[in-house]
Amino acid sequence: MYSLSVQDLQIQARAAAFADELIPFEVTAELNDGDLPKDVVAAHTARARELGLHAANMPASLGGGGATSLQQVLIQEQAGRVTNALAWSAGTPPSWLPAVATQYQLDRFVVPAIRGEREECYAITEEGAGSDVDAIMATARRDGDDYVLNGEKWHVTSYNGADFAFFQGKLVGGEHDGEHAMFLVDLPSPGVTVVRTPAYSHTISHHHPIVAFTDVRVPATHLVGAEGDGMSFAYEWFRFERLMVAARCLGAAGRLTQEMTAFSIERRVQGRPIAEFGAIAGMLADSLTELFAARSLTYETARAIDADADIKVQHAQCSMAKLYASEMAGRVADRAVQVFGGRGYMRENVAERFFRELRVERIWEGTSEVQRAIIADQMIKRGPQALA
Ligand SMILES: Cc1cc2nc3c(=O)[nH]c(=O)nc-3n(C[C@H](O)[C@H](O)[C@H](O)COP(=O)(O)OP(=O)(O)OC[C@H]3O[C@@H](n4cnc5c(N)ncnc54)[C@H](O)[C@@H]3O)c2cc1C
Repeated sequence: MYSLSVQDLQIQARAAAFADELIPFEVTAELNDGDLPKDVVAAHTARARELGLHAANMPASLGGGGATSLQQVLIQEQAGRVTNALAWSAGTPPSWLPAVATQYQLDRFVVPAIRGEREECYAITEEGAGSDVDAIMATARRDGDDYVLNGEKWHVTSYNGADFAFFQGKLVGGEHDGEHAMFLVDLPSPGVTVVRTPAYSHTISHHHPIVAFTDVRVPATHLVGAEGDGMSFAYEWFRFERLMVAARCLGAAGRLTQEMTAFSIERRVQGRPIAEFGAIAGMLADSLTELFAARSLTYETARAIDADADIKVQHAQCSMAKLYASEMAGRVADRAVQVFGGRGYMRENVAERFFRELRVERIWEGTSEVQRAIIADQMIKRGPQALA
């Protein structure tokens, strides 16, 4: 099915085996604020590397897996079957960075991230700038051989485990005054402090604190690309992450569909399996049908990227995949809770966990409303036939 090559199927099987090994740890993580014992986390990280799943998205020339976009989707789909972000132990370092990084940045940040020795976080969003990244207030001012960074960043995912951050700010003064620029900031660094760490709906070990950058000095060698390039990096990262969000949503919906089918065959009410009730059968059928549609869309989008499709078409199709797959997974999780009845409301039940966890897939990496705006914009500019 889906015309996958032998190599694609092998990668998929390795990722599936990894997910199967993680699933038994979910409830322990759920009941412990997302945390697992250190030795267990280390074992998962080592296993991800052994199976070639860590940094599969990075160029082989730098020690990464060199996976195609379709293969990355297959890996992330399996990762998406696991709750509590346990599959994040197979990391995806920034695949857009090698093309623009200097040799110094490759040696200091990229290659160690591929080896699993360093971990990044993204400090882009602010209290008043999420959907509209251009509204950021953070600043970067050149001072001799350094830049001085200031700003307060929200939802900085994985800050608690990261040892460097991507910081996006607007340049103050100079030729590119008011334009965006992105910087690599070592963590910890003087002037980088946690304002507070809010609690979120999901239960994962990666926190999303609000982080203040106050007169943080970074050498000019930590500027990514050129002054004024900041926004283009954000777009490239969004394209990648949106497709990976779609892939993980396929995995979540796939697992939920399997689990609710098994439960509805096994659970008997009034002497009959609940699967025989039309209302339950309808929820099963709708879930699988929508999953099939989302998977076909997501795989096709990945294939178009591998075939070097026009970049704007890629952008819109990644938005379509993210929009549809995340909304589909939300509907499937809602149905799964219903099919499981009271059990579906217990935190030890996979449907309950996914019901909370999947909600953010419609928000981060661009909300559903923003994806619709991107798709409609390209439809108007290029015509619907260019996109689908
Ligand atoms: C758990 C979590 C982790 C995150 N991790 C990171 C991270 O690591 N790094 C980082 O930089 N950011 C991160 N984010 C931020 C995330 O990308 C933003 O929350 C998201 O882009 C939405 O921005 P916002 O929250 O400011 O919402 P807003 O922009 O305030 O949007 C509010 C509402 O208005 C709607 N809206 C906005 N603009 C339009 C429009 N043009 N048309 C129609 N409707 C519109 C939105 O869809 C939404 O419904 C994270 C967020 C969460 C929740």
